[in-house]
Amino acid sequence: MRILVVEDEAKTADYLHKGLSESGYLVEVALNGMDGQHLVQESEFDLIILDVMLPGLDGWQLLQIIRRKWQTPVLFLTARDAVEDRVKGLELGADDYLVKPFSYAELLARVRTLLRRGPPREVEQFVVADLHVDLLKRKVTRAGERLNLTNKEFALLHLLLSREGEVLSRTLIASHVWQMNFDSDTNVVDVAVRRLRAKVDDPFSLKLIHTVRGMGYMLDAHP
Ligand code: CA
Repeated sequence: MRILVVEDEAKTADYLHKGLSESGYLVEVALNGMDGQHLVQESEFDLIILDVMLPGLDGWQLLQIIRRKWQTPVLFLTARDAVEDRVKGLELGADDYLVKPFSYAELLARVRTLLRRGPPREVEQFVVADLHVDLLKRKVTRAGERLNLTNKEFALLHLLLSREGEVLSRTLIASHVWQMNFDSDTNVVDVAVRRLRAKVDDPFSLKLIHTVRGMGYMLDAHP
């Protein structure tokens, strides 16, 4: 389970990082809103702990940005026990809040509850142009023709489809599909994409998988 902590007070950030890591979570810390936004866009988290008072891009703004695209549970931290703050946070789409100062036990209880609630029901199929992917049956067809993909090819296609129209870096693809960091060797990603293309794109005139030079790959029917 991966948790992102966005908190500008280094002491609190350290304390959360240490505590949650000891509780078995993988924790990343952003010390300001911009870094938080960057991390949210670059990788996937199961929960975001968001301080509201941040310099520059504040917690409310970041929460709005997150909610435009992601359903990741958000627990916000507020320094004031003010009703308006709580209402505002929940209206903007946060899932829960804690008023500072809070005990670690209290935080951990909230974290566990939010993670148990889990993400909303995921989509079961994707349709892009004449490509159909049924996630439950793991069935892929293009122009009515059944395509047989390996598990990794399927995982790669699923990732590209779930982020349709977005350029995905090789590092991001490696961490999602192989759950590993291939900082030194993203070649494996290129090879996998080539194999996937051979099945999904090569026999068809409309290409769906695109190389974005110097950046990565993108799936898009209308690039
Ligand atoms: Ca703060």
